[in-house]
Amino acid sequence: MKTLACGEIMTGCAATFRGETEDEILARAGRHAAEDHGLEVTPNVVELVRAHIRDDGQASGAQGRA
Ligand SMILES: [Zn+2]
Repeated sequence: MKTLACGEIMTGCAATFRGETEDEILARAGRHAAEDHGLEVTPNVVELVRAHIRDDGQASGAQGRA
């Protein structure tokens, strides 16, 4: 599982996202950013979000993706 804490990007936001892949989190976080923060999801925003996605260490399948 991977996790993203929106508050690391948008100070004060308590939203967190979990997903099996970065793409899954990016899809959810992108929708959240647009709806709750009024952000336009540009490639720069996507990269910023991607940089804050963390692997929560529960390797459930040893896929070995960095
Ligand atoms: Zn947020």
